[in-house]
Amino acid sequence: MKLDTGALRYLTSDDWRVLAAVEQGSKNHELVPTPLIQQIAGLRGGSGTHKNISNLAKVGLIAKVKNAKYDGYRLTYGGLDYLALNTHRKSETIYSLGNQIGVGKESDIYITASPEGRQLVLKLHRLGRISFRTVKANRDYLRNRSTGSWMYLSRLAAQKEHAFMRILHREGFPVPEPVAWSRHTVVMEFIDAFPLRMIDHVGDPGKLYAELMEMIVRLARRGLIHGDFNEFNILVKEVKNGDSVDLIPILIDFPQMISTNHTNAQMYFDRDVEGVRRYFERRLRYTSDEEGPFLEEALKGAKPEERLDVEVEASGFSRKMAKELERYVETVGGDHSEAEAVDQQDEVSEGEDEINEAPEEHDETIEAGDDGVTHEAEGSDLAEQLDGLR
Ligand code: ADP
Ligand code: MG
Repeated sequence: MKLDTGALRYLTSDDWRVLAAVEQGSKNHELVPTPLIQQIAGLRGGSGTHKNISNLAKVGLIAKVKNAKYDGYRLTYGGLDYLALNTHRKSETIYSLGNQIGVGKESDIYITASPEGRQLVLKLHRLGRISFRTVKANRDYLRNRSTGSWMYLSRLAAQKEHAFMRILHREGFPVPEPVAWSRHTVVMEFIDAFPLRMIDHVGDPGKLYAELMEMIVRLARRGLIHGDFNEFNILVKEVKNGDSVDLIPILIDFPQMISTNHTNAQMYFDRDVEGVRRYFERRLRYTSDEEGPFLEEALKGAKPEERLDVEVEASGFSRKMAKELERYVETVGGDHSEAEAVDQQDEVSEGEDEINEAPEEHDETIEAGDDGVTHEAEGSDLAEQLDGLR
């Protein structure tokens, strides 16, 4: 699903009010009835609201749906995108929107810039957009969920990602600096680097390997397991150092992070370790003589008062929210399933990566008005597009 900002400039301030009203109404109505939209928007003259509703529906920001009892509207992902962009614009977090740099299995990544011209990344979470590789059981489970819950889960993913990044960054872990979050989006520092997967030559694999394992251990000592620690989620900065090049790993992608107190902590920890080990063996032809690291040992050095998992929970991302998101993540799997699939493919041929292939969209998440037009080529000036809409 593309982020289509084309209609931004045509929305009037009343359109925005009505859009916000549909969002608010969606909190306790799967289908927001028209009278409720009118009531929340609080616009004078009911017929005017109808016009706003039809404007919004025409550009696909809301969609009309019938159920057994009444007709109503729901917010589309496009509408949610607009609301989040508008919030980031109003708070002067982002000024312009640039190219799309990544299509994850369940996210879209854009370059953006702050009013001061700092390059930033906008990550839009799109839970429910399932890879063609996932098994049928997953699709069946997911089909039974409404679009409302897709949006809710995407919001949870963004909130969780921002909460973890904030704390990890503060504690000096090599992660992008988080700048803001709104709804299903996170704005963060742009890291000028490629994922490990794209790095052809690693001069001293032993050093990088040790650093990555140490990072896994450091996280565990603070009560955390990344849960998707692999070559796609480790960006590697190449910094010239005299004649050689230093490789500096930076960790990204946090919606599946878990506590070391989790029932399956051992399994997730071992899987993170094993993923790195396997990647280094297969792709970089490097095998460490050392075993481990092991969760039990990492936890020996842990101080209870320094636990970050506890702090994140206290910061507003509650245990209940974590559970809801986790249920989804466990069903769908993270990048590691992608990594495994690519691995298997490598065994057949050392072919092209398929990770950039656009994933199939799930039936129920194809929003009305999604015209499939791509808007990748040029950057667009968000401020200009939003001008006059304040
Ligand atoms: P997903 O959850 O879809 O896997 P990621 O957070 O892993 O999303 O991001 C997908 C890709 O986008 C990454 O592999 C990386 O290439 C790029 N990317 C994400 N965040 C950043 C960032 N802060 N700076 C630079 N590139 C990024
Ligand atoms: Mg990722």
